[in-house]
Amino acid sequence: MDTCPECQKRLREYERAIGEIYALVDTRLPTRWEKITRLRQWQDERDRAIENYYLHKRLHSIRYRGVKAA
Ligand SMILES: [Zn+2]
Repeated sequence: MDTCPECQKRLREYERAIGEIYALVDTRLPTRWEKITRLRQWQDERDRAIENYYLHKRLHSIRYRGVKAA
């Protein structure tokens, strides 16, 4: 699979959001509402990150077509 620093950066953002979601599940917050709100924020973040990753990958395969990626 072709990857570049940009791919890795975007994947790290995705993984970070996943990590935050898991951490939040185990975190005690003053209200349930706050927990749900924060979870939704990270879920949005995660969705955005994976979308960015796929968008980038599409450009990426055009840009690097025929070129062996390191
Ligand atoms: Zn890339």
